[in-house]
Amino acid sequence: MIITMKKNAPRQEIDRLLRELESQGISATEIQGTDYNVFGLVGNTTSLDARKIEGLPFVDNVQRVSAPYKLANRVFHPEDTVVDVGGVKIGAGQPIAVMAGPCAIENRELTDQIACEVKKAGAVLFRGGAYKPRTSPYSFQGLGLEGIQYMAEVRERYHMPIVTELMSADKIDEFVEHVDLIQVGARNMQNFQLLKELGRIDKPILLKRGLANTIEEWLMSAEYIMAGGNEKVILCERGIRTFEKYTRNTLDLSVVPIIKQRSHLPIVIDPSHATGDRKLVEAMSLAAIAAGADGLIIEVHTDPPHAASDGAQSLYPEQFASLMEKGRAIAKVVGRSL
Ligand code: PEP
Ligand code: MN
Repeated sequence: MIITMKKNAPRQEIDRLLRELESQGISATEIQGTDYNVFGLVGNTTSLDARKIEGLPFVDNVQRVSAPYKLANRVFHPEDTVVDVGGVKIGAGQPIAVMAGPCAIENRELTDQIACEVKKAGAVLFRGGAYKPRTSPYSFQGLGLEGIQYMAEVRERYHMPIVTELMSADKIDEFVEHVDLIQVGARNMQNFQLLKELGRIDKPILLKRGLANTIEEWLMSAEYIMAGGNEKVILCERGIRTFEKYTRNTLDLSVVPIIKQRSHLPIVIDPSHATGDRKLVEAMSLAAIAAGADGLIIEVHTDPPHAASDGAQSLYPEQFASLMEKGRAIAKVVGRSL
């Protein structure tokens, strides 16, 4: 962290600040200029509040040099993290993990049908929502535990670990018992209490990026989970809010190489929620593979027009199978398999 003091900053005040920093194990090197005095801080500055220091009357500005996240930071953990989800390894150097299934679990028959189709096409994890975060309270809210039980049945039948969204901490025990990969949805990315609770369990977490969150905020949320002791975090980009209304969200694909530079955690792309339009899902999936994503999470339904949720962005099984075919070719180019 670099602190620039104002020109006539009183020496007494500067010394008091430096002593306070020193008591926190941070040392400062002074560079005297003609117009400003600059202090370079060395030590663990992650817990310092840059805005608080900037608010001091004799401070001109404060700049962070190192990222505020530590455990998620590649600098302190150079080797890639590979997360084992019920036997499926997700991360760099592993086959690209494709998770597929309906937006919401609707009934036993459909769950089985869709699982059978996505398995046949090459999906390795089955996705589905049992507790649904719907914008309207009048929309289908999901089957709850009953839905998770239908997912657990197809896990046994088709040998696919399951991923589903947890909305509140009171269901953690239920999820630990039945679910292989616990999804934290975009709307809960900054539910810090929930993140802290997930830090205490030993289950992989799929952490979606919030609707309007920066990459740094997203990594800080990963840090919350990891700081509690659970380092099995997989990041998922699902599109962010921009002024563009043609698509449901704007897929920020540049996060793939950025996350690879900044963090050691696996990164997965959700082209379904990112676009909201099944016509765009294949192109964005192929682009994600080309960009170096470690996985995809895709909505597939055998009867999209009658899906209880997100039918417009759900692929027909044959579209999913064709996407997988093309995906294999692109994966080969980037030295991966699918
Ligand atoms: C979902 O995956 O079904 C979902 C609701 O995703 P998001 O949190 O990204 O909107
Ligand atoms: Mn959905």
